[in-house]
Amino acid sequence: MIQVNVKCPHCGKSFMDEEIKIDGHPSVKLNIQWGGERGRLRLSSLYGSFNIDCQLPMPQGEVARFFCPHCNAELSGQRTCEQCNAPMIPLKFVEGGIVQICSRRGCKKHLIEFEDLKSELRAFYNKYSLFFKSR
Ligand SMILES: [Zn+2]
Ligand SMILES: [Zn+2]
Repeated sequence: MIQVNVKCPHCGKSFMDEEIKIDGHPSVKLNIQWGGERGRLRLSSLYGSFNIDCQLPMPQGEVARFFCPHCNAELSGQRTCEQCNAPMIPLKFVEGGIVQICSRRGCKKHLIEFEDLKSELRAFYNKYSLFFKSR
């Protein structure tokens, strides 16, 4: 599995949290707002894993707003989810490129989306070529 490293598109600080791990890897730490409350949301940094740790009692199917835990800027973009029409949340890769996640809880199909799948994956394959060869 590919591990993604993402950062804030506004302040450039990393979202990766080495302290709290999900799937045995650093989690992606974000703040979300739902139902008038703010809380911490952690995502797995493994591409294709949908394990999360959510502080808010947010049911499946609800849409949250996302904020940077460092600069508090709202993470929002122009795209909407092809699957459910909820806004997509853009996160920047440390290596370059953007990953889009759907803001609707439980919308797995578009939770992570590369803007340019081919070139991003090529970059990953180059970076992790040893890892892939060993499998
Ligand atoms: Zn920020
Ligand atoms: Zn969606």
